[in-house]
Amino acid sequence: VFANLVQAPEDPILGVTVAYNKDPSPVKVNLGVGAYRTEEGKPLVLNVVRQAEQLLVNDRSRVKEYLPITGLADFNKLSSKLIFGSDSPAIRENRVTTVQCLSGTGSLRVGAEFLAKHYHQRVIYIPHPTWGNHPKVFTLAGLSVKTYRYYDPATRGLNFQGLLEDLGSAPSGAIVLLHACAHNPTGVDPTIEQWEQIRQLMRSKALLPFFDSAYQGFASGSLDADAQPVRLFVADGGELLAAQSYAKNMGLYGERVGALSIVCKSADVAAKVESQLKLVIRPMYSNPPIHGASIVATILKDSELYREWTIELKAMADRIISMRHQLFDALRARGTPGDWTHIIKQIGMFTFTGLNTQQVAFMTQEYHIYMTSDGRISMAGLSSRTVPHLADAIHAAVTR
Ligand code: PMP
Repeated sequence: VFANLVQAPEDPILGVTVAYNKDPSPVKVNLGVGAYRTEEGKPLVLNVVRQAEQLLVNDRSRVKEYLPITGLADFNKLSSKLIFGSDSPAIRENRVTTVQCLSGTGSLRVGAEFLAKHYHQRVIYIPHPTWGNHPKVFTLAGLSVKTYRYYDPATRGLNFQGLLEDLGSAPSGAIVLLHACAHNPTGVDPTIEQWEQIRQLMRSKALLPFFDSAYQGFASGSLDADAQPVRLFVADGGELLAAQSYAKNMGLYGERVGALSIVCKSADVAAKVESQLKLVIRPMYSNPPIHGASIVATILKDSELYREWTIELKAMADRIISMRHQLFDALRARGTPGDWTHIIKQIGMFTFTGLNTQQVAFMTQEYHIYMTSDGRISMAGLSSRTVPHLADAIHAAVTR
């Protein structure tokens, strides 16, 4: 019955890994997917995660019962404190509802389904460019997707004027997707002063912020500093949504641990919102998985494990920053034409190199370097060993 189906294309990001896996070359490098690798190029399981798992295994009182629809209560409470701050007035006033979801993607999807069903404005503005999955998640949830200007290819920085103009002409009440920190794919974030201007503009037009926080702790190495933009919007007493992922900052990619929080005007509204979120989740996947959320809760509630986590997180962030400097230095040493300072200025896991599709294809073909066709490279996939090879490839691509 399915004989007439056409073969669907590979996912533009995950497909890069598929192509990489097929390449027999010993020098191949995968800079496509945003997953952290060690200096040796290996995936990393954090020490604190191993410790938490050990504690969970040793606890014979633990069972495998279903979680509630909203997930693990401890996990939800600790997650909202992590993003909003332990002294957040919104949490103190019980105005926040947090539900455990399937990592960042699942949190975005549940939030979007909820908005499509219960919010009066079904338009969401997403930055251009943005993570490739955003438009699909929001469209399939029933929202209408529009873009706002974000990146300026000329400066390889923020198009702040364009952003203000586009949000300024958005219809009142529209939803706006904001990357909390470490914008993917550009690595370009507003300054805190620019965030304040964005906040004022959005609140004056009653635009509803939907924060995507997939990299808390990864941008600066500080969990609090990376949550500053979100907290700025909570501090004014207004409403917002936030999707959190523990894929990157705890290295729990495949465990699919995340949370959706909705900050409301009152405890009464938050309770009603939660009751409706349950109606969204129940027919979708009933309730979320228990293992990953238990790891996160174990780490977040134990002050010693939490401290160790922040140290390991900072080490990952620092290694990425060091890769930026090494790549920049390697290009300078080769005299590669162009201004490459954006490599050290951009923030988070990715560098938006400015290389075009043809140059990317050339680098893949001739140098076995795999990345998305928009020229985005995952700095987390680089090591001191692979930087010279990448620099050679970039040099060859821009001088051919
Ligand atoms: N948002 C952004 C901006 C991302 O980069 C990612 C991961 N690449 C996600 C959300 C979701 O990731 P996950 O579902 O693995 O948590």
